[in-house]
Amino acid sequence: MNAAAPIIQAHGIFKGYETETGHLRILKGISTAFRTGEVVSIMGPSGSGKSTLLGILGTLDLPTAGHLFIQGQDVTRLSESRLAGYRASKIGFVFQSYNLISTMTALENVMLPMLSAEGKTRRQMRQRAMDLLELVGMKERMHHLSPRLSGGQQQRVAIARALANEPLVVIADEPTGNLDRKTGEVILELIFSLRDRLRTTFILATHDPYVASVSDRVIHLSDGKIEQVVENRVNRT
Ligand code: ADP
Ligand code: MG
Repeated sequence: MNAAAPIIQAHGIFKGYETETGHLRILKGISTAFRTGEVVSIMGPSGSGKSTLLGILGTLDLPTAGHLFIQGQDVTRLSESRLAGYRASKIGFVFQSYNLISTMTALENVMLPMLSAEGKTRRQMRQRAMDLLELVGMKERMHHLSPRLSGGQQQRVAIARALANEPLVVIADEPTGNLDRKTGEVILELIFSLRDRLRTTFILATHDPYVASVSDRVIHLSDGKIEQVVENRVNRT
């Protein structure tokens, strides 16, 4: 496959909710595509639909209309159970509030997604989790319970967890939103180094103009529509 061919394509995505006061339109016709190894930011004011769009790109939620193609397959046509398997094997998630399991160590948190995938022995899972924790600079703290880690450290572990099943894409909703500026920059550097080493695609929702400025591309959302797309780096494949 051509390295520059899109791995994810959104075609005319609409999303709405039925509420007591009627139909609430959130996404109003989003069409865009993501290529392997890109780091793309989605920016826009609160309520513009960033998290809703990430939920659809991550197959956590289905659009009201429109289609999402991942590696050419229309995932909006998959059954819920096939979609869940697809999601577990192809997509990693990172959240603003890290969402680690507080009763588990860093190592156990990173092993967790591997338990629902097939093909690895427990010993191999443990080894892979240790390798990932080393990759994100957290190997020394692998036996710490997550609440004993700082915010930046928890986010490193969360990124390692997102990579557990070698996803095509990592979807990160405000990954630096709870971190101070310096720590946020370190997390962003980590994301770029992982992209360079693993060729993973990252799609980030952010409020932070710095995050956007270093991304390969920035999609500006406004009221559920793409207002502008800014390419920061060209010919980076
Ligand atoms: P952002 O992440 O850009 O702040 P969101 O995607 O979270 O925006 O939300 C966009 C709009 O969709 C908001 O007005 C929000 O209240 C609304 N919304 C999100 N989820 C639901 C839901 N499950 N039911 C009804 N409205 C929702
Ligand atoms: Mg949001």
